[in-house]
Amino acid sequence: MKVIDHIKEAKDTLFSFEILPPLKGKSIQSIYNGIDPLMEFKPKFINVTYHREEYVYKERDKGLLEKVSIRKRPGTVGICAAIMNKYHVDAVPHLICGGFSKEDTENALIDLQFLGIDNVLALRGDPIKTEATFKPEVNGHNYAVELIEQIQNMNKGQYTLDDIHLEPTDFCVGAAGYPEKHFEAMNMATDLQYLKQKVDRGADYIVTQLFYDNAKYFDFVKKCRDIGITVPIIPGLKPISNLRHISFLPKFFHIDLPMELSTELLKCKTNDEVKQVGIEWGIQQSKELKAAGVPCIHYYTMTNSSEVRKIASELF
Ligand code: FAD
Repeated sequence: MKVIDHIKEAKDTLFSFEILPPLKGKSIQSIYNGIDPLMEFKPKFINVTYHREEYVYKERDKGLLEKVSIRKRPGTVGICAAIMNKYHVDAVPHLICGGFSKEDTENALIDLQFLGIDNVLALRGDPIKTEATFKPEVNGHNYAVELIEQIQNMNKGQYTLDDIHLEPTDFCVGAAGYPEKHFEAMNMATDLQYLKQKVDRGADYIVTQLFYDNAKYFDFVKKCRDIGITVPIIPGLKPISNLRHISFLPKFFHIDLPMELSTELLKCKTNDEVKQVGIEWGIQQSKELKAAGVPCIHYYTMTNSSEVRKIASELF
């Protein structure tokens, strides 16, 4: 079932969460171990992130260096199929532009359709670590909006590779939104215009980047509505759970931590203390969002579901 239909049918705020494929060599059981504790909260869909290749340089004969591509977290599509099979819950694979030509994208979407997957979160992906700016694949997409267009063309039966009309797909498409602005955007206004373009070209709903200040989410939703974006905007939350997060999250996700939260975090000496602050903050954020009637709260579990479980048990 489509995410958008889950939202339409819902009488209350829905619960959903996002997982990362395990590192190479780990079994599917590590995924189940993260999902099992959250199933009692009846998620309507579970997102599975996609991680593109990274490059490492390996030393070869005579001191020559060879650039070798590695995938640390493969398996997004297989994990989605396994989740749907085991839990009978909709899985939402993330699909990115980086590393994909249009042909690769088309083949990936055909695989998803075969597996009965109805939803896709369409993203551009970040630049790879060795490149300063995002570089599309040859015959690939520069921006998520182009990927959304390709998916919507397939939904009309227009495939890229065959110049003929084929059986239409029927994907529900999500897109990313940034309450604190995407880090490359010149300003909030242009970022919002590009977000509107994604919706105008076929994004059915938006999931936000994680944030810790609900005021920023509410302001973002208002700005979206003011420029005519009418689709559901699902807030994304991630509980802070260790001392490293205090500097990592602002740096990696280009977000601010509110003063009240940072003051509490700076008093913490151990990971357990940080975890407790993170859970309490997550509960307070979630309660306020739920009271405001948001369509769904989407939790980024990354690889650890225990904090999300504690938050969800207070709300769902
Ligand atoms: P876009 O919408 O293409 O925007 C990228 C930048 O270009 C923005 O600054 C925007 O303002 C600008 N822009 C957009 N359209 C145009 C245009 N037509 N002309 C000029 N400028 C334009 N990354 C992964 O690799 N794997 C994942 O699984 C993953 N999951 C994510 C899930 C969520 C909910 C979110 C919020 C992010 C996720 N990301 C993931 C990270 C995401 O790929 C990065 O934030 C990436 O840098 C931007 O992706 P986007 O889809 O928002 O890009």
